[in-house]
Amino acid sequence: MNRTHLLYRLQTIDLEIGDGRRRLEEVEAGLGESEELHRAQRALQRAENELNRWRATLRDLELETRSLTAKIASVEERLYGGRVTNPKELANLQNEVSYLKRRKSELEDRQIEAMVEVEEHEAEVDSKRASLAQIEAEWSQTQERLTAERGELERRLAHLKEERAKLEGMIGAEDLALYGELCSRKGGRAVALLKGGACQACGVTLPTSQVQQARSGNALSFCSSCQRILYVER
Ligand SMILES: [Zn+2]
Repeated sequence: MNRTHLLYRLQTIDLEIGDGRRRLEEVEAGLGESEELHRAQRALQRAENELNRWRATLRDLELETRSLTAKIASVEERLYGGRVTNPKELANLQNEVSYLKRRKSELEDRQIEAMVEVEEHEAEVDSKRASLAQIEAEWSQTQERLTAERGELERRLAHLKEERAKLEGMIGAEDLALYGELCSRKGGRAVALLKGGACQACGVTLPTSQVQQARSGNALSFCSSCQRILYVER
């Protein structure tokens, strides 16, 4: 490998290291807890709380109705039992029974409403639970995929680092310094491929004399437009 070829290899490795590191950051950002999963968990929690509230309301109404039924039975027992004969007292008992029955009928209406609410909230909880299960399944699939990708990226980056160290040992100190300096000035791309007479980094077509010079090999030649080191593939 001549000088420009070595620098071009170095450039290729550095670009791949750059891409690999950026992807690794993305992968690491995607690993771990997910906001979507948290949202689905909170939504299910809220739906369950609401359902429990309605179930408690329904139980209270059922208890109240049961005790009212018992009370009505005991007042009717007195009303029709024959022990009370005083007409005024009988009229009072009759009023009380009517009053209690109206209350019971109201309670029964509220109980029906509560039953409808319980059913609706049960359906809501089922649907939230199903959507959480789906999100959890997708999330764990993604985690598995990202974990595998992270492993591959880490292995690839370690390999590239080794390759880079070997190459550095083969490149002269001056060329390395020039490469580093051009990299920092030229957005991480110090070496440009020269193809069909055009610099592939800036797109400018170069004069034939410059193309020939670049082709000849050992001395470094630079793009007259973007000043990058030119490399011609053989
Ligand atoms: Zn150029």
